[in-house]
Amino acid sequence: MAKFCINCGKELGDTDKVCSQCGTPVDGAAPAQATTVVAPARAQKSNGLALAGFIVSLVSTILCCGSFNVISLILSIVGAVKAKDCGGNGKGLAIAGIIISAIGLILLIVLTIFGYAAAIIEEAGYSY
Ligand SMILES: [Zn+2]
Repeated sequence: MAKFCINCGKELGDTDKVCSQCGTPVDGAAPAQATTVVAPARAQKSNGLALAGFIVSLVSTILCCGSFNVISLILSIVGAVKAKDCGGNGKGLAIAGIIISAIGLILLIVLTIFGYAAAIIEEAGYSY
């Protein structure tokens, strides 16, 4: 037996939960969009990852514990990607975090190479 929409009168299918034309629920309740007030989306989502990446990169570079720069680099890159979803929020921080992390990592690599070189020279018995 065919049913009809109580709001607009359109014929409804047996399996329809809402009217395909106006969206009124078949069970006779008021249209969802009229009664349900959707909470307004925040205009700017906070970008915690970008901030976290920036802070970790800064701290790890200052404290010279460069292994954290890998973490901060990842955080900053993810933060930069997420910045697009956050309306650009945190993009500057994320980019700063990436740059600081990269500098910290390069320093770490250079220091490690020098460290190994010094150790090898010492091992070989050369002394100044
Ligand atoms: Zn309808």
